[in-house]
Amino acid sequence: MKLATKYIHAGTEPDPSTGAIMTPIYQTSTYVQEAPGVNKGYEYARSQNPTRKALEDAYAQIENGKFGLAFGSGVAATDAVIKLLSPGDEVICANDMYGGTYRLFTKIFAKYGIQFTYVDTTDVDQIRKAISAKTKLIWIETPTNPLMNITDIAAVSAIAKEAKAILCVDNTFASPYLQNPLDLGADIVMHSATKYLGGHSDVIQGCLVMNDVALREQLYFIQKSCGAVPGPMDCFLVLRGIKTLHVRMQRHCENGEKVARFLRNHPKVGRVYWCGFEDHHNHGIAKKQMRGFGGMMSFTLKDDSVDNARRVLSSTKVFALAESLGGVESLINHPASMTHASIPREERIKNGLTDSLIRLSVGIEDAEDLIADLNQAIG
Ligand SMILES: *Cc1c(COP(=O)(O)O)cnc(C)c1O
Repeated sequence: MKLATKYIHAGTEPDPSTGAIMTPIYQTSTYVQEAPGVNKGYEYARSQNPTRKALEDAYAQIENGKFGLAFGSGVAATDAVIKLLSPGDEVICANDMYGGTYRLFTKIFAKYGIQFTYVDTTDVDQIRKAISAKTKLIWIETPTNPLMNITDIAAVSAIAKEAKAILCVDNTFASPYLQNPLDLGADIVMHSATKYLGGHSDVIQGCLVMNDVALREQLYFIQKSCGAVPGPMDCFLVLRGIKTLHVRMQRHCENGEKVARFLRNHPKVGRVYWCGFEDHHNHGIAKKQMRGFGGMMSFTLKDDSVDNARRVLSSTKVFALAESLGGVESLINHPASMTHASIPREERIKNGLTDSLIRLSVGIEDAEDLIADLNQAIG
């Protein structure tokens, strides 16, 4: 089935009780049983909910996996993956990843005795060298946030298999429309559905998708035991978002390319980080594993001062100054003081995330309006 057809029909069946074409919002906490232990497969809504079930099936289908699990946020999905581990286990992860993931690893899980080793995952040899007998999980994000670095998923998956470690890929930035990590050998795909999957900046949610039934059972056990489940209304919103993922992503890609090329030709712009450029250092891998390059990018200004970056950030009229990404409207963000403020400055700068870096989530408005807005803001 082609992507457009798949996204529109993923997970949804006419409702068995009425024939409703849209999955109803089952706003209930419990289900009446015919006799003790005799039920319709639904007992208590932390464990099962029909709206969530439809969405979890949709998640599985759009990532070419067998099983999907929905969580109350992207970080709750990440939290569930780390809870597969025990004290003493080691995780190898990227040194350039979502700030909230870094915070969860360093501030919450490190104190439970789980060890995190941060490497430049774009260089797979660094991952290979970091592997030890205790390595249980490799966590990568590609493209990375905000520097748009690309890691070779198939190559890392081969290393993970050899080490008998689980490979989990945060696929939030690419979305399933552009990249499907399970097809490249990953064990788990994680999404912040808050972003492209929801697509309208009106919901917080996360998901995991996997093929292995034992892994699904463990993660389902964590989901229901720890309880970070999304409500049915939020599940409904993401189900609706997924139906237009392909048309939104096509426009995000088209607009992204136009904005990236505009910025690159602007005399006051320094570096532009966008993985669609032919001379982007990982463009070959991006082309191999992605169907397009999306609307996420970062750039610096030639006048590389924080004040100049702040001036641009405060001058856009169409681009809204806000955290988050992947919605239909364009956003502009200052990673150093906003999304990545939880990473110590020294660490940030070492990884290329300078004080003047500006990140864009290019939305699906008219590209000419977006370019005119950036042009007046850069001045
Ligand atoms: C937003 C985001 C997360 C966290 O998701 P929430 O839904 O905000 O909890 C994780 N990874 C990436 C790449 C993100 O952009």
